[in-house]
Amino acid sequence: MTTDLHPPSRQFALYGGRQTVTLIPGDGIGPEMSDAVRKIFLSAGVPVDFEEVDVTSDNFQSGSCEEALVSIQRNEVALTGNIETKVDELDFDQKSANVTLRTKLDLYANVIKVKSVPGIVTRHNNIDIRLIRENTEGEYSNLEHEGVPGVVESLKIITAENSLRIARFAFEYAQRNSRKKVTAVHKANIMKLSDGLFLQCCREVAREFPEVEFNDMIIDNTTMQMVSNPYQFDVMVMPNLYGNILGNVCCGLVGGPGVVAGANIGKKYRVFETATRNTGKSIAGLNIANPSAFIFSSSLMLKYIGLHKYASLINQALVDTLEKDQIHTADLGGCHTTSDVVDAVCRRVQTQAYKVRYD
Ligand code: ADP
Ligand code: MG
Repeated sequence: MTTDLHPPSRQFALYGGRQTVTLIPGDGIGPEMSDAVRKIFLSAGVPVDFEEVDVTSDNFQSGSCEEALVSIQRNEVALTGNIETKVDELDFDQKSANVTLRTKLDLYANVIKVKSVPGIVTRHNNIDIRLIRENTEGEYSNLEHEGVPGVVESLKIITAENSLRIARFAFEYAQRNSRKKVTAVHKANIMKLSDGLFLQCCREVAREFPEVEFNDMIIDNTTMQMVSNPYQFDVMVMPNLYGNILGNVCCGLVGGPGVVAGANIGKKYRVFETATRNTGKSIAGLNIANPSAFIFSSSLMLKYIGLHKYASLINQALVDTLEKDQIHTADLGGCHTTSDVVDAVCRRVQTQAYKVRYD
């Protein structure tokens, strides 16, 4: 069995062996979310050992980021929380640790699974979209300078190489997972050269996949279409910043930042995290954050390393906790705590072998 992401670059321990995975709890709610996953893995007897690296906004410039890189390069797989990037420090050298990790590991594709979760009531039901975002360049190239006081230039880098690579990833993803359509999202009407090149690359790759329908849509229209008629979308591919914004819209549609998982994929490494990459600083330490997104991403990670049985068990236990037990945190309109969700998931993984309906 493979995974709905890219096939692994090597065979991970499948039978009786244990797999080491890098865990970066990060800032804000990350440490609580990591504890939740540890607890559930222990309950389910998942044969994974976490190698924890504490990268935070306070220590990432003093070596922890390099330590994390080495760990991920060794293990090839990581589960991470978000490392806070302080907005108000106007220091051009203060780069985001998250962006640094993604670019150094060349995790060129960000895939988020936007799927309605049974038991979570939202305006639209049965949404099932995969949003694929170019993850290494575009507006996240970290090339800004103040040439003269009061005038800042910020460079958005779009290359044919990376655009072809992400377009090919999207079409291969669609083909591998029997998805029908790929929509390229852009603003080529205004950014004629940069987004024009991105669109041209998508069109070029689309010709290699005649069995997959292809269309393109301008980002502003896409956000409107997304909230009014999300069912028209299947697989979507786009440059970095549009993916960030549209990804958040998508997450809002199916229940918010607490429920959606994401994966960062490169040729060799995979880093799993929540789709909206929130730090959740304001709700940290209060036992109120929704652990579902982190748990779903841990399950995606297990699927990727070949532990399908555990992945499905944990996925289904969480869905049943949300749907049958109706154990919901405040973000979903409920009154339960983080630990209530985690304890219920643990109870479910321990008490029954599941007939998996949600995967
Ligand atoms: P902050 O700026 O306070 O760190 P973020 O930008 O990290 O917040 O998150 C955006 C919003 O989503 C915030 O209101 C935060 O509380 C909420 N949020 C993020 N993650 C979760 C979660 N796991 N459960 C509930 N709410 C969350
Ligand atoms: Mg934020």
